[in-house]
Amino acid sequence: MPIADKMTEMVAASSMVKQMFEEGARLKAEHGSGNVFDFSLGNPDVSPPAGFKEVLKQLVANDALGHGYTPNSGYPHVRQAVADYLSSEHAIALPRDFIVMTVGAAGALNDALKSLMNPGEEILVPSPYFMGYEHYAFIAGAALKPVPTRSSFHLDPAAIDTAITDRTRVMLINSPNNPTGVVYTAEELAELGEILDRASTRWGRRIYLVSDEPYRKITYGVNAPSVFKAYPHSIVVSSYSKQLSLAGERIGYLAVHPQAEDGGLIADAAALTNTMLCVNAPSLFQLAVAQVQGISVDVSIYRHRRDMLCRGLAEAGYEFEKPEGAFYLFPKSPIADDVKFVGMLKEQLILAVPGSSFGGPGHFRLSYAVPEWAITGSLAGFKRAREKIQSG
Ligand code: PLP
Repeated sequence: MPIADKMTEMVAASSMVKQMFEEGARLKAEHGSGNVFDFSLGNPDVSPPAGFKEVLKQLVANDALGHGYTPNSGYPHVRQAVADYLSSEHAIALPRDFIVMTVGAAGALNDALKSLMNPGEEILVPSPYFMGYEHYAFIAGAALKPVPTRSSFHLDPAAIDTAITDRTRVMLINSPNNPTGVVYTAEELAELGEILDRASTRWGRRIYLVSDEPYRKITYGVNAPSVFKAYPHSIVVSSYSKQLSLAGERIGYLAVHPQAEDGGLIADAAALTNTMLCVNAPSLFQLAVAQVQGISVDVSIYRHRRDMLCRGLAEAGYEFEKPEGAFYLFPKSPIADDVKFVGMLKEQLILAVPGSSFGGPGHFRLSYAVPEWAITGSLAGFKRAREKIQSG
């Protein structure tokens, strides 16, 4: 075997996703891209906030702008800007030494997990969950252990408590959530904090909470509460991919709670893993985001699309939890076999992702990071797919 056994397995799994995208591209070539309704990708299509291009232009116009390596954790003044903003957002005093600038939230997750996990230790994750977590766990040499959630996709405290063992090192959560759109409440985070604290005492080793928050600013009528308030042994990982629609520019950060047990050591380790995995975060975009802390894309655009899609799908008879954040909808598949149902949607020129890919079988995921015409144009097809099932 020319590649590692585990990689053989992972390449096979990713080739299914690749096939799905190739099939989507084939359909678009055959029917015209305006006739195919592609809800498969979580790639933000809303413009970055007004004024962001000006910030970039001014940076580039400066002849003194360098293109060299930056300090591995990021430029000190950029980390300071992020620390200042997060200090006010989370109402804690966060020193800049507890911030590492990263290559997106993906880079921050790799840094956090590689820093914390010993080989074979477990990362608990509420299910369904973002598929990338399998990859980050693999890179960290750790095992991802899904924990069921309630039917509303909110946390199930009893299930989490039962799932914790002497091998659990990290609880990894994601709110607002991909793929369900759920936003955890302050109460459920506080309860989670208590569970993790009790379990840490029970097993005689600290369990850390890693909170993946790239959709934090994309919420509808609610605010995502602070995990730092709920549990001091927390690490927030996030990015500007969705908040500023900069997914391709690969810029994010990791922030360690200043009172986390061995927090300074974790921040130092994360700076080192950042060096190992990617050297440093992109320098131009470090400089740019430092100037636009706290600014977000126009969330009302996503909200409008969410409402259009929810209204249309409800009228067609689909069942789902109305998302409070992110830009995904995770409806129940009208048949148990979600892969088969996604195939039936494809016959209607609608591209979706089976829930099984997220550890959530019996559902399918729709990303509404799509133009409104795609939502309007798809609704008849959603209706037909369901009617086809009802008519046997
Ligand atoms: N975490 C979640 C839940 C995501 O949905 C994504 C990307 O879609 C990431 C992390 C990775 O984000 P980034 O592009 O900032 O690396």
